[in-house]
Amino acid sequence: MHVGFQQRLLPILPDIAAHFGTPFHLYDETGIRQTAAELQAAFEGIQGFREYFAVKALPNPRILSILREVGFGFDCSSIPELTLSRRIGAQATDLFFTSNNTTREEFEHALADGGCILNLDDVSLLHKLPHRPEGICFRYNPGTRRSGNTIIGNPVEAKFGLSHEQVLPAYRQALALGIQRFGLHAMIASNERDYRSMVETTRMLLALVADVQAELGIRFDFINIGGGLGIPYRPEDTPLDIRALGSEARALLAAFHDQHGFCPALFTESGRYITGPHGVLITRAINHKHTYRRYVGVDASMSALMRPGMYGAYHHIEVAGKTATADLQTVDIVGSLCENNDKFAIQRPLPPIVEGDLLIIHDTGAHGHAMGFNYNGRLRPQELLLRTDGQVERIRRAETLDDYFATLNYQPNTFHPTPYSETV
Ligand SMILES: *Cc1c(COP(=O)(O)O)cnc(C)c1O
Repeated sequence: MHVGFQQRLLPILPDIAAHFGTPFHLYDETGIRQTAAELQAAFEGIQGFREYFAVKALPNPRILSILREVGFGFDCSSIPELTLSRRIGAQATDLFFTSNNTTREEFEHALADGGCILNLDDVSLLHKLPHRPEGICFRYNPGTRRSGNTIIGNPVEAKFGLSHEQVLPAYRQALALGIQRFGLHAMIASNERDYRSMVETTRMLLALVADVQAELGIRFDFINIGGGLGIPYRPEDTPLDIRALGSEARALLAAFHDQHGFCPALFTESGRYITGPHGVLITRAINHKHTYRRYVGVDASMSALMRPGMYGAYHHIEVAGKTATADLQTVDIVGSLCENNDKFAIQRPLPPIVEGDLLIIHDTGAHGHAMGFNYNGRLRPQELLLRTDGQVERIRRAETLDDYFATLNYQPNTFHPTPYSETV
């Protein structure tokens, strides 16, 4: 969580909580705009640089509109994500569609309404497209050539992308189909704070582009080095050096240009880096108990933030109005699911918490609300935006019982199936 956000939020938090009720995710427009500007500044001078925000990180139209305003495109991987992006005005060149295990229906949506930049996860998908797109991008998986990291896994074991040997035949087949514009994509790491990983991805993709071009005589419009830029979830984590990434990428692209007389554009598709540090989950302590451990029960549960339960991810927690200096108590911060991994923090030293205290769970601006779910009948909380003008706006209401029951409102359909033996 950025210091500026903390300073903006702390004085007004009790009032916001009183007005909107808890729990809620709250996002900081100022911080999001600052990070977007920093990213663009870091890559300044790179011709055609563009960030396609990974919609899955924070699929809220109000947030997407802000990101569209600053010039970002959108990386989508499902029909709802495409629909959401198109509804806020994204056009063909603003949309990158990076799906895997894709259905025909998804391709139909991706290519409808003016289309998008299509990123294929496998060469077999070329022949499943409803019609020939103007351009194509393939997702490359380098296998043992790169090591990957914990969230996304080792490339050799990852389900994503084409193998090294499949790259050339893939572009050859695309050419044979009459496709004329090309891109190359890879996403190797997730939440990686060492900028050199992304520099290596840039180098790797440029080398591959040079090989394919030499072999097939085609020109690449762009390379997309993926998302996965990391953020400091722990106070002691060093932030990623975005300027160093920008300048080393710029140097690689310039060298490519010198050698080949032209250069593909550079795209990124970060989610976490853009909005992650600019969101918090605010939840109130409602119970406490002391058994074999001390527990603090809060009014949010993992339906609002799944990362700790799913990946054992660390989210820093602050108790509003209490400084983490003296008399810390080691506690588990828990939600109300009948699931023992419904914990926001495990054995965490925090200032003594009393019922009614507001807890600020940091860095929930990406893969937070979006990853929520309804197991155990737990409903997802509202989302709020702290605007640059200082006003707080509700940008999504909390789920209601009616939402939970919405799928029980269906057309009756009872069917008496014929046994297989009678049909053959
Ligand atoms: C999830 C995802 C991203 C965004 O990842 P972050 O860690 O939020 O940057 C980008 N591209 C693809 C293909 C993804 O699946």
